[in-house]
Amino acid sequence: MNKVKLEYIWIDGHQPTQKLRSKTKVLDGPIENLDQIPDWGFDGSSTNQAEGTDSDCLLKPAFLAPDPVRGEDSFLVMCEVMNADGTPHKTNMRAACKVTANKFLSEEPWFGIEQEYTFFQGRSPLGWPEGGYPAPQGPFYCGVGADEVFGRDIVEDHMEACIEAGLEISGINAEVMPGQWEFQIGPIGTLDAGDQVWLARYLLYRIAEDYGVSATLHPKPVAGDWNGAGAHTNFSTKAMRAEGGIKIIEAACEKLKEKHAEHIEAYGAHNEERLTGLHETCSVREFRYGVSDRGASIRIPMQTANEGKGYLEDRRPSANMDPYLVCAMLLETTCG
Ligand code: ADP
Ligand code: MN
Ligand code: MN
Ligand code: MN
Repeated sequence: MNKVKLEYIWIDGHQPTQKLRSKTKVLDGPIENLDQIPDWGFDGSSTNQAEGTDSDCLLKPAFLAPDPVRGEDSFLVMCEVMNADGTPHKTNMRAACKVTANKFLSEEPWFGIEQEYTFFQGRSPLGWPEGGYPAPQGPFYCGVGADEVFGRDIVEDHMEACIEAGLEISGINAEVMPGQWEFQIGPIGTLDAGDQVWLARYLLYRIAEDYGVSATLHPKPVAGDWNGAGAHTNFSTKAMRAEGGIKIIEAACEKLKEKHAEHIEAYGAHNEERLTGLHETCSVREFRYGVSDRGASIRIPMQTANEGKGYLEDRRPSANMDPYLVCAMLLETTCG
């Protein structure tokens, strides 16, 4: 009988930004689907999810993918964290996202998330001179050449791993700040967007580990005249994609305007350091939407305006946002 390695992955209780944790279970195979994967537990007092005197939290397998790192007979198991009584733990954002996703299923929502991130080696972004700065921004975005982009081998490995894991990765590019990159997940449904972005983050950290490099989702990893890192969330419903959809998109923008402060609250910690009104952002205190406007809160892509249907891009979420929270909130605000 083959031994199967299962990497149980969950989201901890770290504040203000939750982090990923994982541990391995070895089982007798074969394993073919989620139903065959047992619940598990962990020490919640070590993850800011419980007190030491009553420390057990439950891991409930929620999403299964082949593990591209270990290969054959190995799986990644994205879990929900539950209380001992089987109810969702207060740090479990997936449970609420699932309820919202089901509530708005008939809208047929699609999400495409652009996950930006920054590689670090030691205390500097990857490729930066130790303790110093590279040349000013300008040539690095979508650059090519060893003097322009840093970490491409990791990025390629990560993209391949996402594909092998069955994730809907739809592209990668080098970003404006050297050492900063982006991958895109989608377009896919609400809960899948959350699961897949979190799993893709896990794979990014795990693969970069082998290179002695870390990846951070901090929205402003380097202060000053350097671009921050966001997670632009592209969003559409069936009605937005249909003839005359632009009207629905504009109405959605008006609804988002009303709830700007609440959305910002949920769009990631330290985001105000990034949303300054400079570096292709709109100030955190303002809400603006416009066609092709990369200085707006919401951009309506040129093609969407031209065709009179399509999607909108919420440019406000920061790189460290929780996709379960952001996607659910976009649905509630625009379709609720
Ligand atoms: P940008 O020009 O802002 O850099 P990207 O190409 O990086 O855009 O990302 C756009 C994302 O939007 C992709 O993930 C893509 O799959 C997604 N997308 C495309 N069409 C739709 C749609 N109708 N609804 C939701 N997301 C979409
Ligand atoms: Mn992009
Ligand atoms: Mn980008
Ligand atoms: Mn974008």
